[in-house]
Amino acid sequence: MACARCKDLCVRYTITHPRELRKAIQIGAENIADGTLGEVVPDSPWVSVPFAELAKGAAWDDYIEYHFRCLHCNEMFWLHAETYHGSGGYWEPKDFKSIRENIAN
Ligand SMILES: [Zn+2]
Repeated sequence: MACARCKDLCVRYTITHPRELRKAIQIGAENIADGTLGEVVPDSPWVSVPFAELAKGAAWDDYIEYHFRCLHCNEMFWLHAETYHGSGGYWEPKDFKSIRENIAN
């Protein structure tokens, strides 16, 4: 159900290294800046650092979980990773049927 604005974000991007997490954060921030995505903040967030601060370079928590929504078609995305032990995580659409491609570096 992804639209033209968010279809490039409909990938499962594997994060195994801090630089990949940084890249995923940057992509999220760029898509918020250009009006493609909006952040969805849960009622009880897992994280202490707001995404906007993270995007500006703030240090991340040991576990991160941020949620996003396409402002044009409501496709939901999330960025989640375990950073403390470095086991990593993903940027991905919440609906696995929307995953167009798996990207792992
Ligand atoms: Zn969309």
